[in-house]
Amino acid sequence: MKKVGLLGGMSWESTAIYYRLINEGVSRKLGGLHSAEIILYSVDFEKIAKLQMEGDWKQASKLLVEAAISLEKAGAESILLCTNTMHKVSGDIIESISSPFLHIGDATAEALVNSGIRTVGLLATAFTMEQDFYSGYMQEKYGIEVLIPEPRDREIVHRVIYDELCKGEVLNSSKMEFIRIVEGLSKQGAQGVILGCTEICMLLSQEDTSTPLINSTELHAQAAVKFAIGI
Ligand code: GLU
Repeated sequence: MKKVGLLGGMSWESTAIYYRLINEGVSRKLGGLHSAEIILYSVDFEKIAKLQMEGDWKQASKLLVEAAISLEKAGAESILLCTNTMHKVSGDIIESISSPFLHIGDATAEALVNSGIRTVGLLATAFTMEQDFYSGYMQEKYGIEVLIPEPRDREIVHRVIYDELCKGEVLNSSKMEFIRIVEGLSKQGAQGVILGCTEICMLLSQEDTSTPLINSTELHAQAAVKFAIGI
């Protein structure tokens, strides 16, 4: 089995989900007492979130590049960055490591392509929804068109991510808002909606809506399982 390196802590709430999903996936495939070989570097998210707010992506990138290099030195044979938002600096990480970088956008887009979704809604942090690094990646590499909520709804999604989900708070009132926003995107023509922030799966699941939800956390974790055991 190959060793998976998780660059997490953004937030630790979702990294804990990755840890569980990757172990469950390996156990399901290999049976017995098998579990995943994982090396985890979990950052202090306060530092990263502050740099995001200040727009200091250069410094945030430097911290994550150092962490990725430490994971490789510790024996990681692939790196997963357990956040959609920080994929903004994925290019710097890819340049600095020699092992494969399992990009969350690839894991997500491959599932979209397989289910024939060409136009998709996106729920994520304001950085991911409003900047080009995510939608641009989906459009250029996979020809997928990404629709985002209107500004007031983007603010709601962003606030719920940082003020609630990243602190482990799951509120029914926020779930209702998210369902309303998902349904709005569907009415605009989205054939499905990407849960494009690794904590949103704590709040929303497929039972909540008839619009297909594409869970980036789960798909990314599945990519790790596939890498680890090659099936
Ligand atoms: N985990 C989140 C994401 O997938 C948000 C936290 C962050 O800004 O990294 O984008």
